[in-house]
Amino acid sequence: MSLSSPSKDQLDGLIQEINQWAITNGLAMYPPKFEANPSKASVSPVTVYPTPIPKKCFDEAVQIQPIFNELYARITQDMARSDSLLFKTTQALALSDPEFTGKLWSLYLDTLNVGEKNKKQNLKLGIFRSDYLIDKKNGNDQIKQVEFNTVSVSFAGLAGKVDRLHTYLNKSNKYDFKGSYYNEQDMVISDSGFLLSKALAIAVESYKSQQNFPISSDPIVAFIVQRNERNVFDQKILELNLLEKFNIRSARLTFDDVHEKLFTNNETGRVFIRDTKQEIAVVYYRTGYTTTDYTSEKDWEARLFLEKSIAIKAPDLLTQLSGSKKIQQLLTDENIVSQYAPNFEEKNSLLKTFVKIYPLDNTELGKEGKRLALSNPSKYVLKPQREGGGNNVYKENIPDFLRSIEECHWDAYILMELIEPEFNKDNIILRDNKPYEEAIISELGIYGCILFDDRQVLMNEFSGSLLRSKFNTSNEGGVAAGFGCLDSIVLY
Ligand code: ADP
Ligand code: MG
Ligand code: MG
Repeated sequence: MSLSSPSKDQLDGLIQEINQWAITNGLAMYPPKFEANPSKASVSPVTVYPTPIPKKCFDEAVQIQPIFNELYARITQDMARSDSLLFKTTQALALSDPEFTGKLWSLYLDTLNVGEKNKKQNLKLGIFRSDYLIDKKNGNDQIKQVEFNTVSVSFAGLAGKVDRLHTYLNKSNKYDFKGSYYNEQDMVISDSGFLLSKALAIAVESYKSQQNFPISSDPIVAFIVQRNERNVFDQKILELNLLEKFNIRSARLTFDDVHEKLFTNNETGRVFIRDTKQEIAVVYYRTGYTTTDYTSEKDWEARLFLEKSIAIKAPDLLTQLSGSKKIQQLLTDENIVSQYAPNFEEKNSLLKTFVKIYPLDNTELGKEGKRLALSNPSKYVLKPQREGGGNNVYKENIPDFLRSIEECHWDAYILMELIEPEFNKDNIILRDNKPYEEAIISELGIYGCILFDDRQVLMNEFSGSLLRSKFNTSNEGGVAAGFGCLDSIVLY
């Protein structure tokens, strides 16, 4: 169904509705430099309408999520074995990317030296998001994975809000100019804000039974957050749900706070908030995924302190490292993915979502990757081992970029085939009260949560969905980074 363009009056009316609904319901973010006055938030960038997504693609992405969750749990388990391919790969990657992978890896090696008498926490909570673009290359729609995120996945809280905003506009006939509306059954409402808090609550309960807590006592979830985080309200939704739906308290702590406000019992590895004596059952990271989150050696020490504690980490260092772009590249090799997804049908359904990814090393495939990067870059994106948007190098910029660094460091990057999604010309992006009527591209995100230990999986679930859209002209789609906006899904 295509919507006719609204008149200026109709659009102004819609914008007013969106702003008012968003503020009423907390579909919001802090603007840059909000610290001077934290009483002022702004409406998140959003689309005016939902975006049509083929039902077949959405269903496939939902169904495959538990398979991806388990794949990454198995990868994490295997990375702990020092003779495994993934241990060796990550060790080599640590050398070619010393600023980030190298730092995380050396912290991990440090944790192996924890004194014998200390207990180790073997439960890990993965809160994941698998991101897709819908490829139209061969004339039929096929979800293709952009990346798999294993740390600090955002927008689970706001995703359901933008879904409800669009449902509200539809239901109250605000889209009714020229007789256009959506069938409400086709509009997806993500339950991710609830489902992620539920996963955190399950981890808290597991900690309590593991540590023999009396029923009456109540350990908490520590949200480890960035200094001056702008996407606070997305996180607050999880905090509020934890309290309201599961009766679990939480604390927001920066790496500075970890030094200043926590203490640990050296015998047991349990960690507490000094003032309140509350015990931390789960450490949930909304920071620590990029170099700039660690402003000094002290921040790395804070990460190590938490990692060594007996609290359940969401994620721990290995789970975070399992989501490196390098491992995503390795998994496109059928022989490698088969080791972690032995079921034939499951393996094939994973492989179907992958596009070609090359290493840039001295293997045969790596040599092919280097050749393509230098001589045929227009079909590719070059990615470093980084998260959070704004790090990739696109198409014609690839050769000069590679030539600007020494070839011995090229293997810290992967070369990925560009996915070519169709763009949608019928939507409008609303950012800072200004409408932009440009063609957009949409990226589907599926959340998944998994609780696992060194051997087995204790909980594994699909946890809701997200749609982010960006201008067709922009390479990247980060909402917080200022490239994209929140959207919702209408299935067709
Ligand atoms: P990050 O971990 O920084 O989010 P991504 O791998 O998600 O890195 O890349 C950032 C953005 O770049 C994506 O959201 C998408 O818009 C674009 N992008 C990444 N890989 C591809 C690809 N293979 N084809 C098309 N666009 C891509
Ligand atoms: Mg990422
Ligand atoms: Mg991404």
